[in-house]
Amino acid sequence: MGAALAVVDRQEDLRTMAHDALDTWLDQIEAETATAPTLREISARFLATRAELLGACLEAVIRRQYAAELQQTEAVCACGRRLRRRRLDAKEISTLHGRVTLHRPYFYCDACGVGVHPLDAKLGLAPEHHQYDIQERTTRLGAELPYGVSDEQFERLTGVPASPHFIHETLNAVGEAATLERVLPDADEIARRIETARAGAGRRPVLVVACDGAHAPTRPPGGRTTKRGPGTWREAKGFRLYLLGKEERVIHVASWHQIADKPELSQALGVVSTRVPHDQVRLALVADGAEWIWDVFREHFPKGEQILDYYHCAEHVYETARAQYGDGSLEAQEWVEATLTRLSLNELGAVVGGLLRMKPRTPEAEDAIRALSIYLEGQRERVGYDELRRRGLPRGSGGVESANKLICHVRLKRSGAWWLEANGNAMLRIRCALYNGTFERIFFHYMATHAAARPSP
Ligand SMILES: [Zn+2]
Repeated sequence: MGAALAVVDRQEDLRTMAHDALDTWLDQIEAETATAPTLREISARFLATRAELLGACLEAVIRRQYAAELQQTEAVCACGRRLRRRRLDAKEISTLHGRVTLHRPYFYCDACGVGVHPLDAKLGLAPEHHQYDIQERTTRLGAELPYGVSDEQFERLTGVPASPHFIHETLNAVGEAATLERVLPDADEIARRIETARAGAGRRPVLVVACDGAHAPTRPPGGRTTKRGPGTWREAKGFRLYLLGKEERVIHVASWHQIADKPELSQALGVVSTRVPHDQVRLALVADGAEWIWDVFREHFPKGEQILDYYHCAEHVYETARAQYGDGSLEAQEWVEATLTRLSLNELGAVVGGLLRMKPRTPEAEDAIRALSIYLEGQRERVGYDELRRRGLPRGSGGVESANKLICHVRLKRSGAWWLEANGNAMLRIRCALYNGTFERIFFHYMATHAAARPSP
């Protein structure tokens, strides 16, 4: 390994280089396998030594493909001036297939104050030691596993060491490229998913838009000298769009979750709304009751059917029954059944009237009854669950609950893990992109903008 300064340009020499590396490697392997190793031991030996062999092959390929660029002595600046090569700069690059040291020609334009390594642009090199093939994998892994575990797993699987710090920094940088516009699937992709849901169905498929919050542990930023403040829980708000296909099959469309406030969530819903062909789906808007969410729904999906999430609603009813009649009592059970039946028949007025006439048995019951009537107030037309079922519409969003768990909780809620809001949000955006099938697009954008960093003269 390691490139000689002299540039090799004859094809035979490159083959010789690769063959020599193979011979060296085979000698090594043969020397080691004298004592009847198991397949597992041979495999481990390959993993430990292949970087050297493949690194040499990688170098041979680069030298062959870029012989001209490696020998380049003149270049033309963007300003039109002809530039002479200043020097050869060594750069050690690390890839999934070993390390190579490249000696690339360097050009500098005095008039523009700009220096370039033309080969870097052609090869699409990352400024870092670890190249993009590694960066992509560590980011995917870092989005699934805690830092400190992801680096160990990465090295175990690839034989390439990458520090937790590197994985963390790269993930945050990729997270910068993961903007709302790129994380959400585009209109064409959404149209394709609608086609899939429509296949074999008689009528327009149901598109569920479900909004919900999940609490994410965050901490305020702290300087090097100041002690970091105590953690606080902030709400990661988000939405999930999914289609109901044949036989209740759920087809994911888009997820977006951020530790953010109402305006940000509204903006995000606005963007996804412009990508959805409203007339080709039946829109079911599901939320857990907070009035501001319905405002946002009305603004961006005015024709959608509003549905108070049955599961949240039932939970409230159960809590009230427990407080008033005692946990698990027959009275409690009967009252819950009667109340949920009335709600399903869209008799919300009767339920609220009943709550107002109820004689609270304890102060706790009084609070619960008041909370439930406040919760239900204004939910008229959002609870006719029986009619919704007849029309083929869902009564709740088990879907967004599980998406919340998958996207927010799995990675953010680790014991002792408190997130800086910006880093938590970068992680959430990348996880949404992975879930939405848009990660590839984000990574391309990251590479395109990241490599633009100017080399120093
Ligand atoms: Zn110039």
